[in-house]
Amino acid sequence: MFASKSPEPRDYQNRRLDALAEPPEVGHELFVGLSALGDTLSNRHHSKDFSFAHARYLRSRVLAVGLIFALLSPLWIVVDSLALPAELLRYTLIGRVLLMVGLVGVLLLAYISRERIRRIRFSAGMLLALPAFFYLFVLVMLPGDQVNGLIGYGFIPFLLVAALSVFPFTLLESLGAGLAMLALLAFAQFSDGSWLTGNGVESLLLLASLLVVSLAANHFQLSLLLRLYRQATHDPLTGLFNRRALEVHLAKVQAWQSDTAGQDSLGNIPCSILMLDLDHFKRINDSYGHSVGDRVLCQFADLLVRQTRRHDCVARYGGEEFVILLVGSSQARAMEVAERIRCAVEKSEFTDHDGQPIAVTTSIGVSRLERDEPPLVALKRADEALYRAKREGRNQVISGRDAAGSE
Ligand code: GH3
Ligand code: MG
Ligand code: MG
Repeated sequence: MFASKSPEPRDYQNRRLDALAEPPEVGHELFVGLSALGDTLSNRHHSKDFSFAHARYLRSRVLAVGLIFALLSPLWIVVDSLALPAELLRYTLIGRVLLMVGLVGVLLLAYISRERIRRIRFSAGMLLALPAFFYLFVLVMLPGDQVNGLIGYGFIPFLLVAALSVFPFTLLESLGAGLAMLALLAFAQFSDGSWLTGNGVESLLLLASLLVVSLAANHFQLSLLLRLYRQATHDPLTGLFNRRALEVHLAKVQAWQSDTAGQDSLGNIPCSILMLDLDHFKRINDSYGHSVGDRVLCQFADLLVRQTRRHDCVARYGGEEFVILLVGSSQARAMEVAERIRCAVEKSEFTDHDGQPIAVTTSIGVSRLERDEPPLVALKRADEALYRAKREGRNQVISGRDAAGSE
């Protein structure tokens, strides 16, 4: 839906945004020409915003599955004590205690890592790696001739590959974990002498098939999450952010402004809001029909995305009203950007379904986003400026009053 943007910041960026002051990402890149498989293969194309939503979901799964593993593990000591001879029990007991300590650590890490994406991913990986290490530990520690005496351990790689399907892992993450489990099973077969026997090959094939099923489950789970995220945050007609997502993003940018205040040698980083409304849009609907009106809205949205940078947030605020949050732009700079957009709209070739040109203009109100005021107040100032632009003849840019009341 989005036209591609220039990767370089444009010249209207008046402030240096250094590495310390990396603003929250907007996330257009999630939707640029990606197939569903590309979306679930790795998280390379996921926006920061989606990664947070994804990590929160992953965390809840880690806590639930981690709790099940942590409860099952001591219960299995009873099974071990009934099934294994005393000399084997020694080895498995040490391993189980280490496993339980590790599982409690993973649960604690996931619990305290609410917004830490990397930590949550790490805890999910460790949750699956710990039982595998436990099995490996028992295999390595046991004297070779006693491995066959183990009961209820051979299913650990199968359990872990099946557990992959419970998590919304990317395909590459799951594939890596699944191949590690296949290697673990192969090692176990070397240890118990079933490698390359009929039973051994059958087990490996079974595990490989289970991995394919888990990969399919991961793909469907992650695509569903992506679709739900998109429906909740984006406008279906234009593909831009919706009003709710904009308000969340405004609050996030304000928090970022506060966090970076004092870190930037240039002082506080300014942000500005543009509120745009198409002029006499009702006439376009009335003259050409609603579907051409929709087409104009999409063309307008594309133009806005092309005229802004990666960290700016472009949203459809209502029917034919749009909002742009310019990150790192003072109100004066935002006025220049708004004027450039106004000119671009006036000069652009909007067309109906037959390619016939339609004249379109826009009015724009501009305001500054103060970091210590509710975002709705800044939006209201931009809206008042927009209203004045309409009253004073349309197709123009008006600057809103700042928080102190001057323009
Ligand atoms: P002004 O210059 O004062 O803004 O005039 P206007 O005609 O643009 O404003 P008005 O608020 O009277 O009309 C807005 C119109 O936008 C009315 C509504 O039918 C139309 N509209 C709102 N949402 C959509 C949409 O999703 N698709 C289409 N085609 N039209 C829409
Ligand atoms: Mg209008
Ligand atoms: Mg309107």
